[in-house]
Amino acid sequence: MHSSCVFKKADELLRSRSKLFHEKEVHVVSFKWIDYSPELKVYDGDNISELDLGILNINVSKEKTCVGTLQDDYAPCPNGATVSIFSQCQRCASTWISRLECIFEPSGCESCSSDFCEKEHSVYLAFLGKYPKIGMTRKARLKQRLIEQGADAYALLATVDHRLKAREEERTLSNMLNIPQRVGHKKKLAQMARKLDRTGMQTTYRGIKNRTAVGELRYLRDYPIREPLRNAPRLRPTAGIHRGKMVGLKGRFLIYESSGLQAIDLSDLPGRKLRIRS
Ligand SMILES: [Zn+2]
Ligand SMILES: [Zn+2]
Repeated sequence: MHSSCVFKKADELLRSRSKLFHEKEVHVVSFKWIDYSPELKVYDGDNISELDLGILNINVSKEKTCVGTLQDDYAPCPNGATVSIFSQCQRCASTWISRLECIFEPSGCESCSSDFCEKEHSVYLAFLGKYPKIGMTRKARLKQRLIEQGADAYALLATVDHRLKAREEERTLSNMLNIPQRVGHKKKLAQMARKLDRTGMQTTYRGIKNRTAVGELRYLRDYPIREPLRNAPRLRPTAGIHRGKMVGLKGRFLIYESSGLQAIDLSDLPGRKLRIRS
């Protein structure tokens, strides 16, 4: 073998090794949709930046720690608190909500004096593909909330004074119309591989309209994904390695190609550490 070839080989090997070990660790602090643009923010110990989701090469931690405070300037959690359901500890969340539990189970919102709970709320009907669901959210966040869920269409059912009332109304309508408050991930992912059945959706909508007051049916169709996908993606556990080329995003799922279509739940990332390889 020619000596320059040997050097070239060694050089390549070194480069590929350093490539292999070029890793950085970041803390995921938020995932949200701004209209139809997804935004995943990470903190590297010095700065907040947006993670490019085009090519995925990440190793996700099992543990979650509080994302800190995101208002104006970023401040990491002073306690580095471990978190589970919520991505903030109660202390860091206190700038915007007095009882974190109110997110899912509002109680005493007439007096919980939280800006978050006291504002007007909307109760809505949403379609995830052909599956209808009833939900509620702050009125100002309605469209964002629907996009977060990857809804294909929606209609307004009611507007109420505060969060507790919204939750009660949501339950009442859900029972009366026999429509669930949740659509599981398997159904959502399966719908991505089907052509949107507008006729079926309109039939269900008309059935509901016959039974209760409901606003106009509106479609939400500008997600950065080309549907229908060739088949339903498989949801991978959040923790662990995700490597592949992004296919598209809808709701909380990023779909990527890695020996078939895979899905990662981006809403489960805030609080986790990512080791990013580049
Ligand atoms: Zn905290
Ligand atoms: Zn409350």
